[in-house]
Amino acid sequence: MDISVQPDLYCPSLDDNGNYIDSFPKFTLNFNGFYCKCTSRKDKIYETKKSLVSHFKTKCHKNWLENLNNNKQNYYIKYIEANEVIRSQKIIIASLNKELDNKNLTINYLTEQLVNNSLKTDRNNSEVYKTNETNKTKIADLIDLD
Ligand SMILES: [Zn+2]
Repeated sequence: MDISVQPDLYCPSLDDNGNYIDSFPKFTLNFNGFYCKCTSRKDKIYETKKSLVSHFKTKCHKNWLENLNNNKQNYYIKYIEANEVIRSQKIIIASLNKELDNKNLTINYLTEQLVNNSLKTDRNNSEVYKTNETNKTKIADLIDLD
């Protein structure tokens, strides 16, 4: 069994005033390190508590956190917009599923008809073949001059 050892995304906590603040996550199921969205180095993983807490003090991270707090209202609007997109996507998916179900029913119906017609055609062809075989015999009898 393959056990995932992916690092987690670091998410700041909220203080009593609803501001984002840095704190080391209190609960981690399996600590595989963290990566932080603030850094331009996407592959940087903070593998120890000390390295992550030390990262909190960098200018890049402090600017990112300040930016998060300054745009809280915008994130709420984005959240509302994202929920609306999800709702409309669900409606589109349901509509497409219904259309797909109808097309599958049509395909099954037409396939059944095609098979039935094909069987009829085969039966008719074999009767024509038998008739032709009979006629050949008769013609052969007529041609036989012996
Ligand atoms: Zn950071």
